[in-house]
Amino acid sequence: MNVQNYINGKFSPPVNDAWIDNYCPANGKIYGQIPNSSKDDIENAYIAAKSVFPLWSQTTIDERSKILIKISELLDANLQRFAEAESKDNGKPISLAKTVDIPRAASNFRFFGNAITQFASESHESVGHDAINYTLRQPIGIVGCISPWNLPLYLFTWKIAPAIAAGNCVVAKPSEITPVTAYLLGEICTEAGLPKGVLNIVHGLGNTTGQAIIEHPDIKAISFTGGTATGAHIAKVAAPMFKKLSLELGGKNPNIIFADCDYDDMLETTVRSSFANQGQICLCGSRIFVEAAIYEKFKTDFVEKVKKLKIGHPSKEDTNIGALVSKPHLEKVLQYINMAKKENGTILCGGNKVIVTDYEDGYYLEPTVIEVATDECRVNQEEIFGPVVTIMPFNTEDNVLQMANKVKYGLSATLWTNNLKRTMRMSHQLQAGIVWVNTWMLRDLRTPFGGVKASGVGREGGFEALRFFTEAKNVCIKY
Ligand code: NDP
Repeated sequence: MNVQNYINGKFSPPVNDAWIDNYCPANGKIYGQIPNSSKDDIENAYIAAKSVFPLWSQTTIDERSKILIKISELLDANLQRFAEAESKDNGKPISLAKTVDIPRAASNFRFFGNAITQFASESHESVGHDAINYTLRQPIGIVGCISPWNLPLYLFTWKIAPAIAAGNCVVAKPSEITPVTAYLLGEICTEAGLPKGVLNIVHGLGNTTGQAIIEHPDIKAISFTGGTATGAHIAKVAAPMFKKLSLELGGKNPNIIFADCDYDDMLETTVRSSFANQGQICLCGSRIFVEAAIYEKFKTDFVEKVKKLKIGHPSKEDTNIGALVSKPHLEKVLQYINMAKKENGTILCGGNKVIVTDYEDGYYLEPTVIEVATDECRVNQEEIFGPVVTIMPFNTEDNVLQMANKVKYGLSATLWTNNLKRTMRMSHQLQAGIVWVNTWMLRDLRTPFGGVKASGVGREGGFEALRFFTEAKNVCIKY
C-alpha cells in the first residue's frame, strides 16, 4: 500500500517527490512506498495548522468532544481493516492488533473526547484581599507529536487525541517503519468532520522530517515516544527555544517474583509480559528476578511454556509470536544474544532465527530466555526491545530492590507477592513511573503514565495529558 501525507485535510505527495520503500516484516518484501518528506512539507503542515487554530481553539467543548467520539466509532467500525493493516505493517499477530492496538486507538479518542468535558480549572478566593483568582487552561497552539513503531496507531493516537481535544492543532509524524495505520487515520478524521488542518500527518525519516518538527520555532510543544538517545537529542534541540516537552522513552523493566505469589497466574502473565508483541513493548518485563526458593521450579515451568509459543505468520489467528519489525532490528537483537553468550549467560531456550515456510525472508526470532550470571552484564542493563528476557535468582527483598533499581531506566516494574507490607514497601521504593502488583499492563487511561531516570520526563494519560497540552494562566481580579 502506498502512503501519502495528510495535510490540510487532503492527501498529497511530498513536495520533493522523494519516497521510501516500506517493507513487510512477515516476508521481508517491499509492499509500498511512503513520502520521504522534507522541511517544506512540515512548513506546509504548520501553515495549515496555524490557519485553522483560531477556529479550532474556539470550537465548543461539546463540538470537539463529538468529533473525537465520532473518530473512535469509525475506528471501531473499521477494526478488521485497521488490524490487518497494522499486523502487516508491523509484523505483530493479528489477534493482538484486533484485541489491543486498534481498540485502544479507538479508546484514546473516546477517552479524551469525554475527558475534555470534565477538565475543570481551579479558582481561589484571596480572603482578606477582596480578590479572586481563576486559572485558564489555554491550548498551546501548534504542537508536534512523534511516535515509534512498536504500537503504531495506539501510541500515535495517545498523543493526538488529547492534543486536539485540548484545542491545539497538530503536526504529527509516525515512525517511517510503520506508517500505514496513521495514513488510514486521515480518511477517518475527514469522515468524522475534523476541520481541515487540525491534524496534519507527515511521513518521513526521523532525522529529516522529525528533525524539521523539533526545530520548528513555532511548534511550541513536542510529545515524543521513542528511544532514550532520540529523546536526549530532542531535549537538546528544544531547550534553546523553551519548548514544552513530554518524553516517553526506553525501559528495562524488572519483573520481581516472590515465592508467596499466586504461581499459575504469575506464570501465565510472565509469559505475556515477556513476549507480547515479540517483546517490543516498552513496558515488557525484560529482567525477571525470582526468589531462590522457587527459582528452579520457575525456570523449568517458564521455559516449557515459552517453548510452546507458536511462531508464525502474523496474519494467522493462532500465531503467538509474529515477526520482528525490521531486518536491522532483528540483527540488533541477535547481537545481544551473542553478547549474552560472551558474558557467560546461559541460553535456556530460543536464541535463533526462525524460517517460516513460504515466508523465508521474514524477520522471525525464537523467544529467548537467558540465565545471567550477574545483574551487571550488558544484556541485563541495556534495552534489547525484542523477544529476549533474562532471569536470575535473588535471596532477600533488599537484594532484589537494589538490583531492580540499578539500571539507568525507570519506566515500569512488576511485583508478584501476596504480602501486603512487602507490596507497600517495595512499590514505594522501586524507581519507576508505573508499578504493577500481581498483574501486568492493566491500563486505566485516567492514570498518569511515564517514566523516571532515562525513561523520560513528564506524564501522559488522563488529565496529565490535558495539562501537558495546555498552558495554565492565572487571572487575579480585585473586586
Ligand atoms: P526512535 O527513537 O528511533 O524513534 C521514535 C520516533 O522518533 C520515530 O518516529 C522516529 O522516526 C523519530 N525520530 C528519530 N530521530 C528523530 C529526530 N532527530 N527528530 C525527531 N524525530 C526523530 O525509537 P523507535 O521507533 O526505535 O522505538 C523504540 C523505542 O521507543 C524503544 O526505546 C522503546 O522503549 C521506546 N518506547 C517507549 C515507550 C514509552 O511509553 N516510554 C512506548 C513505546 C516505545 P523514524 O522511525 O522515521 O526514524
